[in-house]
Amino acid sequence: MKYLLEVSYTGDLLAHRRCPRAWAYEKHAQFQPYEQAQAMEGRLVHHAMEWLTQKFDPSSGSHATAAQLRDQLLHYFRVLWARGLRTAFQSKQVTIDRVVDNLFPGELMHPTVKTAIEGAKHTEYELRTVRKLVRTDFAGKTRMVLTGVLDLVLQSTYPLVYPRLWAWSALDELVGEVTVESVASHPGDLEIWDYKGTRAATSHVRDYVIQLLTYAGLYGERVGELPARCVLFFVNEPKREEQLVAIEIDPDIVQRAEAWTIAEAKRVRQTMLRFEQDPCAVDGGDLDAASMPVGARVDAELKKQCTACGQRFDCQEYIAHLGGPGHPDIDLINVTKN
Ligand code: SF4
Repeated sequence: MKYLLEVSYTGDLLAHRRCPRAWAYEKHAQFQPYEQAQAMEGRLVHHAMEWLTQKFDPSSGSHATAAQLRDQLLHYFRVLWARGLRTAFQSKQVTIDRVVDNLFPGELMHPTVKTAIEGAKHTEYELRTVRKLVRTDFAGKTRMVLTGVLDLVLQSTYPLVYPRLWAWSALDELVGEVTVESVASHPGDLEIWDYKGTRAATSHVRDYVIQLLTYAGLYGERVGELPARCVLFFVNEPKREEQLVAIEIDPDIVQRAEAWTIAEAKRVRQTMLRFEQDPCAVDGGDLDAASMPVGARVDAELKKQCTACGQRFDCQEYIAHLGGPGHPDIDLINVTKN
């Protein structure tokens, strides 16, 4: 539809924030990347959690075992590999072992994983997709449909204590940080959890927090009740006390998060129009670092994406970041890499 802008929270909005140039080629112009190093582990983590939740039998309380999960992930790894997803780690076995060991340390199910699986609202899988139609001016589009996928809606049966809390330092700019402050849930609290395949120290925590707050608002519009809190679960974080971050919810902060999200969707639309006029006009690098000099807009986290990016060979940002042409990463005839 000519008047409708379709925006997926993860695939468009967050990917655009990581790098508008990669987003424009891959998502907007549909240049399929020949490999996606970063996506592999996140997909395995999500699949593992989903599969474990399906395998849980609430009547007997039985769970799948670590060996069964390992077997399942081996199958799923082959599916992802065939779709062009790759891993930054040494081998299939190392990658799968990392995921299984994080979920089943010492072959026993991690207590947080157990809590998430047992508390999942099994009857409400139809609520996994949240959606919102926004009517405003998106430069030639008068409506936007925003979609997101909820990893887990949890209704706790017993109190949980989260050792980390997101605290706002400047509410107007939606700036805050993870603090070492514990928060306890109450039985019956409704929570939205999001599984992340990265470490807890990721530079994208703020984006993830606003994403979850927006999902909370969309979920609330759908069911008529805001969740009590949202929780980021960094599944691959080795320090257990840093794995969970609680985000308390109130209607004001949810409204601010939704406004931020709409503003970001407008930036996506602007990139879209610029790219359609001149693909070379869209620069690579983190959107928040756009005012930095060329070569300084790639941080350690984005670099993991750049090293496998299909657009890296002529990306002025990445070439400058690597110190100029000649680096093996951007050598077209480096067959050992490509
Ligand atoms: S190489 Fe990096 S900076 Fe350049 S387009 Fe790809 S992801 Fe973006």
